[in-house]
Amino acid sequence: MNNRRNAARREEKLQQRLEAGFVATHFPEVASIVVSMIYNQRGIKKSLLRTLNFFPSSCALFRAECLCKDCVDGGFDLNQVITAMIRNHRGDAKGELSCEGNGPSADHSAIVYEVAIQYS
Ligand SMILES: [Zn+2]
Repeated sequence: MNNRRNAARREEKLQQRLEAGFVATHFPEVASIVVSMIYNQRGIKKSLLRTLNFFPSSCALFRAECLCKDCVDGGFDLNQVITAMIRNHRGDAKGELSCEGNGPSADHSAIVYEVAIQYS
């Protein structure tokens, strides 16, 4: 991937964050969101734990990155899960997601997630 394309991608990501706005703007009733994830990457036996924290001042862009380095447009989109939870005022949810990206390599990861939302 050349530099110009990298720069364009970075700009695109920044633009996405700007457009997403803040958690407080979209979901004023939310005090905090904690996403606990267990990554399972194909070919690697050891799974990895990761936690994402969102606060009212965070960007309302609920995405987790794929662990695969060559991943193109991949990652895990938790926007729908979290938005639906807030709409129903649910405190917790569990599920599984696979990477939605497509890259040259086949070692995309999958996650088992748990979301916990605190309302103010
Ligand atoms: Zn991937």
